[in-house]
Amino acid sequence: GSRIEIKNWSYRYPLNDAWAVEDLTLNVAAGEKVLLTGRSGWGKSTVLQAIAGILGSADEGGESRGSITIDDTPALQARGRVGLILQNPESQVIFARVQDNATFGGENLGVEREEILTRTEEALHTVDLDAEHGISPQRLAQHLSGGQTQRLAIASIMVMRPDVIICDEPTANLDPDGVQCVVDAIADAARQTGATLLVVDHNVQAWDGIVERRIALGEQVDFEDYAGRYASTR
Ligand code: ADP
Ligand code: ADP
Repeated sequence: GSRIEIKNWSYRYPLNDAWAVEDLTLNVAAGEKVLLTGRSGWGKSTVLQAIAGILGSADEGGESRGSITIDDTPALQARGRVGLILQNPESQVIFARVQDNATFGGENLGVEREEILTRTEEALHTVDLDAEHGISPQRLAQHLSGGQTQRLAIASIMVMRPDVIICDEPTANLDPDGVQCVVDAIADAARQTGATLLVVDHNVQAWDGIVERRIALGEQVDFEDYAGRYASTR
């Protein structure tokens, strides 16, 4: 896993007067598992997208200050090392068959074919989308449930062997069973890849026992986290 360092980072979307995030400083240690909470509109999604390197490029027209680095590499240049799981997996599950959705991230990174197939088999097993659970790699992805589709997106990220896994409301559209399956799959994915895990999710309790630290963005009073340290965001 990689260290994430956010230093005095601010971001303003194009054509907006207000800053979406202002002067955020936050560090996540290599391999650490962290849950970020904070009121709606605080800027959590904005921060996660910036860490994933999909927001903040100069040609996009927004304005940013400060820095976000992944092991000292600016986030914009570390894209291939960060896997992103979103609320809506349909935007990431784009091929007809389960197998093709699991492999394409690795293909984009230029991973060797044999290696991709090995990783894919292992990843689909980890997220319970395998023969043992009655799911063939040739199954049509459109016939999967919401939770299964999210787990397929997680498998796809695993095949990329990311240094960081970022999840933005990964359980938002799921029933309670689906929530726990997805949370467990993400925890397994982080464990197996050794990736640093940063999650924003409203289902806070579902992450008990998985995350090591909870950071409440914008809280007036710093609180003691699970590990007995103090989280400070401002
Ligand atoms: P959160 O994830 O904590 O709910 P967001 O990062 O989604 O917060 O939003 C932070 C602020 O940035 C909000 O004021 C929101 O309206 C604004 N914002 C988010 N996305 C965009 C966008 N694409 N264009 C302009 N403003 C945006
Ligand atoms: P208000 O109650 O005035 O609406 P806000 O909702 O803007 O206050 O903020 C609530 C808390 O979150 C405050 O502690 C504020 O310092 C913090 N906060 C809000 N937005 C940000 C941001 N973009 N960056 C860092 N801290 C923030």
